[in-house]
Amino acid sequence: MTRVVVLAGGVGGSRFTLGVRAALARAGAPEATVVVNTGDDLWLSGVRLQPDIDSVLYALAGQNDTERGWGRAGDTERVNEELQAWGAGWPWFTLGDLDLGTHLARTGWLRDGLSVTEVVDRLSRRWPLGVRMLPMTDAEVDTHIVLTDGSRMHFQEWWTRHRATLAPSAFLNPGIEAAVPASGVLEAIAEADVVLLAPSNPVVSIGPILAVPGIREALRGTSARVVGVSPVIGGKVVRGMADVCLAAIGVATSAEAVAAHYGARSDGGVLDVWLLAEEDAEAAASVDALGIRAVVAPLWMTDVEASAALAAAALRA
Ligand code: GDP
Ligand code: CA
Repeated sequence: MTRVVVLAGGVGGSRFTLGVRAALARAGAPEATVVVNTGDDLWLSGVRLQPDIDSVLYALAGQNDTERGWGRAGDTERVNEELQAWGAGWPWFTLGDLDLGTHLARTGWLRDGLSVTEVVDRLSRRWPLGVRMLPMTDAEVDTHIVLTDGSRMHFQEWWTRHRATLAPSAFLNPGIEAAVPASGVLEAIAEADVVLLAPSNPVVSIGPILAVPGIREALRGTSARVVGVSPVIGGKVVRGMADVCLAAIGVATSAEAVAAHYGARSDGGVLDVWLLAEEDAEAAASVDALGIRAVVAPLWMTDVEASAALAAAALRA
């Protein structure tokens, strides 16, 4: 029996999780537990949005818009047009009609007094997801960006409106010091055989998960092997702007630098094994020298088959 926990952000995290689900199903192994970043969450027009939770939810349910890369397949924008006409919300942040249904359901349950974990559990019941999805925490710890001029904005405004073009000096999750992991997260990590760090954004997707007090310690203490997958291939991040985030915290956009940022478990960090791309094979020796076992594998998640092969390689490692 292989008990697997995945730490994941949105799009990269959901592509990887689709692969993990397929690989585990083929092996007849139990469903994985996926701990999802909630640092991207925000309040907008009176509703609570959870972009990474919804990306994982829609992808696993087969309801995601694969062309656009976010939101629901076949969505329309009638309500969004009305919001714009009222001057409500953010003109650069589209809320699809079907997506708004999810946000309204979630917000209603939160206002009924359910915890975020309970809300995510309810969202997980509509479609068979084939994984257990947990938020990293029940606390509201939305990621804020501090710019070099000292001003601050929500992560989504920086990412979506400004396309990460404003130079950041720090990423903050106000309140995270007092947050606790969602119910089940520490137990899942403690009881796992393998913990996988998806090839998600190390700064704003995996970073907030590791910043919830207790989660890093659980990774350091588990008897599971902790295996990370590089989001950097051939010195570039795939489909995204994660390189700006890495630069802001002084980490180079290279597979080796991201591995060093996570660190070896034998040296105060969280990793035992690091999967790096064939394009970065020459960095394997320096990753090994960090005390992290380097495994070279194809890291392009072009389709579910490729993601499943990657997940299988990570599980074998
Ligand atoms: P977000 O929350 O939607 O931004 O998504 P994540 O944080 O989960 O994932 C974003 C990261 O996924 C980016 O930094 C990419 O480098 C990485 N990524 C996207 N596609 C691939 C892929 O095919 N292979 C690998 N190794 N990484 C990928
Ligand atoms: Ca995200």
